[in-house]
Amino acid sequence: MRDHSYPYVVLGAGLAAASAVEGIRLHDSSGSIVLIGAEQAPPYDRPPLSKQLWSGAKTMEEIFLHPGTFYAEQGVELQLGTSILALDPASHTLRDADSAIYRYRKLLLATGGTPRRLSIPGGDLDGVSYFRMVQDYKYLRRAADAAQSALVVGGGFIGSEIAAALSQRGLRVTMVFPGQHLGSRVFPESLGRAITAEYRAKGVEVVAGDRPLAIARHKEAYRTTTQGGRDIVSDLVVVGIGIEPNIQLAQAAGLRTGNGVVVDQFLRTSDPDIYAAGDVAYFPDPVLGPRRVEHWDNALSQGKHAGANMAGAGTPFGYIPFFFSDLFEFGYEAVGDTDARLETFADWQEENKTGVVYYLRDGLVRGAMMCNLFERVDAARALIQRGERVKPNDLRGAIR
Ligand SMILES: Cc1cc2nc3c(=O)[nH]c(=O)nc-3n(C[C@H](O)[C@H](O)[C@H](O)COP(=O)(O)OP(=O)(O)OC[C@H]3O[C@@H](n4cnc5c(N)ncnc54)[C@H](O)[C@@H]3O)c2cc1C
Repeated sequence: MRDHSYPYVVLGAGLAAASAVEGIRLHDSSGSIVLIGAEQAPPYDRPPLSKQLWSGAKTMEEIFLHPGTFYAEQGVELQLGTSILALDPASHTLRDADSAIYRYRKLLLATGGTPRRLSIPGGDLDGVSYFRMVQDYKYLRRAADAAQSALVVGGGFIGSEIAAALSQRGLRVTMVFPGQHLGSRVFPESLGRAITAEYRAKGVEVVAGDRPLAIARHKEAYRTTTQGGRDIVSDLVVVGIGIEPNIQLAQAAGLRTGNGVVVDQFLRTSDPDIYAAGDVAYFPDPVLGPRRVEHWDNALSQGKHAGANMAGAGTPFGYIPFFFSDLFEFGYEAVGDTDARLETFADWQEENKTGVVYYLRDGLVRGAMMCNLFERVDAARALIQRGERVKPNDLRGAIR
């Protein structure tokens, strides 16, 4: 039976994991690294799966985070298609589904998250897509070519992006979600309603304030009934209702967990030889407070930072990551707390199209969303970090 030792074991082969390699190599040019991932594909970017791959702005070859030669050049062994079933911090080992053992000196948990499933009759029907991985994209792309209609469940990032992508491919798209408008967790009401109106104008049928109760096969298609009494027949059903962090291994191993694997400012878990980064990590942001962030820039920066600390850098993580999305012609970059429940102040150059939405708590700027304005993230981050009390009106013109 296989039993190997490594100075560095990186569990997960997503963005946080791939970035960790770069962080490790900044401080240790030769210690061997193994990257273990359940998916067959080497580390790739997920954002294009719901955007550029559909529009043709990127090809499949362009989504990989590094050229194929990168890992061998960096002294990294890729152990893909490999699921780890157990972690034993006492013996510093991981065990995979074939009982192979991986011994580590330092371990990174970069296990990301798994899509939440609909716990309704028919939620597990074959072909209902819980969209996250490249194989989900490949399936949906093939299925969309042969389909006329789609039901998208969920009005957050993934649901909204997939609905736009399918609609642009000419499918009749219906969206169902419980909020009153798209993106209700981040957009202030007037912006959310304007974006929802834009979706309707593009031909998407938006059913807000409703949720599916059951999905059944209907000839070659699906029939979904909703709480509001709708009966929606569609060739495809795609679900984007959020993710759950993959904390099971950490939990079973006795590490501190909660809404994620709990880490300190060095991204170290409750075991000093185990780190966590990316979608799975619950970390103490020094400005905004403890949180778990499910965004690309967070996985990129935390992965790299955790890797550096595994190799001895010993620096606290203090970066505030940004995030982005594209919804038809509406694109934005945002940073910090963009929780629609906070006080918001919108400084529009063109109402609900171009401008900045500020998110405030107790007079402090906690977040900013730059709508159709790009490369303003550093200015927004500085505003948040400055931590000065402001009156909303003073923010007019702060970022242009
Ligand atoms: C379709 C889509 C579009 C997105 N668009 C945006 C966007 O526009 N902007 C933005 O900011 N963010 C976006 N995101 C979010 C962003 O992609 C994630 O935040 C990022 O991928 C998180 O990276 P990660 O490495 O932490 O986790 P993941 O990407 O989830 O990678 C974790 C990996 O670990 C593996 N794994 C887990 N457990 C085990 C185990 N026990 N054994 C072996 N392997 C295991 C998983 O199979 C997975 O491959 C998008 C996400 C999706 C799905």
